[in-house]
Amino acid sequence: MASPALLMRVVASAYSVAEKAATIVRNVMATGDLGIVEKTGANDLQTKADRLVQMSICASLARKFPKVTIIGEEELSTDEVSEELIEDGHCEEILKKPCPAQYSGIKEEELVIWVDPLDGTKEYTEGLLDHVTVLIGIAYGGKAIAGVINQPYYNYEAGANAVLGRTIWGVLGIGAFGFQLTEAPAGKHIVVTTRSHSSALVNDCISALNPDSVIRVGGAGNKIIQLIEGKASAYVFASPGCKKWDTCAPEAILHAVGGKITDMHGNSFQYNKEVKHMNSAGVLATLRNYDYYASRIPNTVKQSLVP
Ligand code: AMP
Ligand code: MG
Ligand code: MG
Repeated sequence: MASPALLMRVVASAYSVAEKAATIVRNVMATGDLGIVEKTGANDLQTKADRLVQMSICASLARKFPKVTIIGEEELSTDEVSEELIEDGHCEEILKKPCPAQYSGIKEEELVIWVDPLDGTKEYTEGLLDHVTVLIGIAYGGKAIAGVINQPYYNYEAGANAVLGRTIWGVLGIGAFGFQLTEAPAGKHIVVTTRSHSSALVNDCISALNPDSVIRVGGAGNKIIQLIEGKASAYVFASPGCKKWDTCAPEAILHAVGGKITDMHGNSFQYNKEVKHMNSAGVLATLRNYDYYASRIPNTVKQSLVP
């Protein structure tokens, strides 16, 4: 049998690399020494887990796929990464899935991998552990086509007997796995938004949508999980601040199950390696009924957010 297509090998490896990342995230928390550093300010943090996980993911994937472009959130060198951070494994089940025909000829040079080693760092430092995810997004031709989201503390409040952590993965044209796709309650408008990066504009935009309820949680990955598991009907963030590594993996998984994510103007995100990192014009995402929310975003909000 011919060897599996590159895309499937990258996703299969990213799955195992994300599981290793989750172990690092839990281990750093267990030591109690988070090594917190402020990046641009008190609401933009980096911990030892962000640093170690980024080194682990980037070095592990670069070793297997040396010509792929890998862009990680943290500004760190991956020249000297300790061997114990390297993950060499892959998920066999993913390799067994046939690659969609339009992706079967992709070469390493054509892929860009966007890595958020720890999404929801602020919440991680505050003990809101199930908000945290590890995001590995895979882009081709400027589009997010595949992604892995690991949630290291999934089930952590369910008690000692529950299996801790999970890995969600998806590829456009194949679907998304590792969770139960669930519709949000029909006829209810439940908005999920930031917990720690609010602003007057963020709140004005939500008020204009007149939702039945608002869920404020950390993490872009976590908020997309809220959409695909039916907890919320729209992710609304009328602010700059969210970056390409926050949206790439979530976008691929959301699109793989028929959802939609854009900026506040309705523009889709681009993920080629030259692109600006900041999603300056905010984020609007839904599993269903995208147009309902998009048509209700006030013009004043749009005018305040320049793409
Ligand atoms: P949140 O919904 O607040 O968890 O934000 C989602 C992602 O965007 C996280 O990775 C945040 O760190 C990032 N983000 C959003 N707003 C800001 C901001 N004002 N400064 C830094 N990072 C931000
Ligand atoms: Mg993030
Ligand atoms: Mg991060």
